[in-house]
Amino acid sequence: MSHELRTPLTSIKGYAAILIAGKIGEVPDAVKERLAKINFHSDNLVSLINDLLDIARIESGRQEMKFDVYKIKKVVDNVIDLLSPQMTAKGVKLQLRFAPNVEEIYVDVSHAERVLINLLSNAVKFTPSQGTVTVAVAPALDDGYATFSVADTGIGIPASEVQKLFSEFYRVENEINQNVKGTGLGLVLAKNIVQAHRGKIWVQSQVGVGTTFYFTLPSTKQAYEGRLNPE
Ligand code: ADP
Repeated sequence: MSHELRTPLTSIKGYAAILIAGKIGEVPDAVKERLAKINFHSDNLVSLINDLLDIARIESGRQEMKFDVYKIKKVVDNVIDLLSPQMTAKGVKLQLRFAPNVEEIYVDVSHAERVLINLLSNAVKFTPSQGTVTVAVAPALDDGYATFSVADTGIGIPASEVQKLFSEFYRVENEINQNVKGTGLGLVLAKNIVQAHRGKIWVQSQVGVGTTFYFTLPSTKQAYEGRLNPE
């Protein structure tokens, strides 16, 4: 299915690029502007399709997961590097809290990073400037699963909406969502990835105070193999 969805889009983007480059004839600025919009919206559609396909693949177990052992600090630092320009631009402060005895996780690293990226970019998006985002990792409990949390001092989520957050395309109606684009797929993807690691994800939030997302990931192969069913 992915091929059928992506090919026409690639073609649309290709034609827009040919036109913008002036290969067919001179293009007035007003037309260029519209072509840039075609390009922009096609890119959005590509990432939406990619997310939907990834969700379906992970949910059905068709996605091959490449599990290995990684240093937690390194994984978190990579993601922070990626998002720090966004935080600096918005004036959101970042705090990191690693428990001294959390060292490693046993994960598919690109997927684990995606969970963190999605939660962190939401935290930044829904937190006003001068707010704080805190990423913390607590040591593994007896079951060998480490608990990660991403906390913000943002707008919060009404209790009535919390149950629906992990459903496809669901977005809370608020001023930020009216102005900033989003797909409502980020949390579904995060949940599927965490569950593919046999972990769990949950949220605590208070309107006007802030939101904390928690998720667990295995710290060792034994922990992962010892837990056959996600809770
Ligand atoms: P998107 O961010 O693309 O809208 P997500 O699936 O990542 O989609 O999030 C779904 C919705 O959950 C968001 O639109 C927002 O309403 C709510 N949400 C997620 N994270 C936060 C947060 N940190 N603070 C407040 N609301 C949040």
